[in-house]
Amino acid sequence: MFQEELLRWYKQNARKLVFRQKKEAYSIWVSEIMAQQTRIEAMLPYFERFIERYPNLKSLAQAEDDDLVKIWQGLGYYNRVRNMKRCAIQCVEQFQGQFPKTKKELCKLPGIGEYTAGAIASIAFDEKVSAVDGNVIRVFSRFYHITDDVSQMSTKKKITELVNASLTEPISDYNQALMELGALVCIPKNPRCAACPIQKECQSYAYGDADSLPVLARKKPRRVENPTFYIWVCQDKIHLKKRSQKGLLAGLFGFDETLPEAVEEKRSLEPYTHIFSHVEWHMKGIVCFVKEKSEDFYSLSQIHDKVSIPSAFQPFLKQTERIIKEREKCQKSL
Ligand code: SF4
Repeated sequence: MFQEELLRWYKQNARKLVFRQKKEAYSIWVSEIMAQQTRIEAMLPYFERFIERYPNLKSLAQAEDDDLVKIWQGLGYYNRVRNMKRCAIQCVEQFQGQFPKTKKELCKLPGIGEYTAGAIASIAFDEKVSAVDGNVIRVFSRFYHITDDVSQMSTKKKITELVNASLTEPISDYNQALMELGALVCIPKNPRCAACPIQKECQSYAYGDADSLPVLARKKPRRVENPTFYIWVCQDKIHLKKRSQKGLLAGLFGFDETLPEAVEEKRSLEPYTHIFSHVEWHMKGIVCFVKEKSEDFYSLSQIHDKVSIPSAFQPFLKQTERIIKEREKCQKSL
């Protein structure tokens, strides 16, 4: 049975990750949400900072929105952290500040889908349920040589049924072993079949075509937009405004898309392309030095310490910072 081989391999090869050390729902949840968008190794410093700042659901439920977004800066997908706060509030109000213990109940919370609910329920509460993420889909599509498009719901359902039928105790280790196999051995390109503990029973290995699976239909091309941002600068301060509550980077700080009145001097920035999941921004940036300033201007140190600037705007922010410093130097030398 491949499960025994897999569990044995997991015991010897699992990475010693901080959120795996204790079987605790909150840490597992935070790590799973972060890992949806970032490699585990890259996400660890964010995870440690987040847990230090918000050690439990109660502290997260009381978080200031701007602080929360600032601590999430660099991870992107800011709706996820907003949903985390909503979820924490709901757990405080309905479950005395704890997570419910079943996959079914967890799925009803904001921002928690089937996979995350399965991961929390099985790893923290030993519920015998599956947690099927992209890694597990890849392993199973190869193991059972499934050649249907895995982006189709029917294929996902078929794979989930196979995973459900394979569930083995200890469930916490089994689910993590599948994820770990997908992350370390049955990787997207050039799977390391020679080092795979379940190679003997793997159908794709027998066919010799593991590299061609899973089959994934081509995604629609991204929509291209060409926004121009005007970075209003008054002396050493930069104008920032909160974006609309709808659309890309909703509710986050950004630059203006209108020219200010009475511009003293303009400087064009190096264009920059930012890729979102469904949209590409081919961005132009123009620094506009102005005389008048309102209260929405922030010094560079305020921006670094307190304001969260989405990564789409970071290259323009860095260029603007350089221009401000060069200009100050020139003015001093006059
Ligand atoms: Fe994946 Fe290769 Fe292992 Fe099959 S033998 S599960 S293709 S790593």
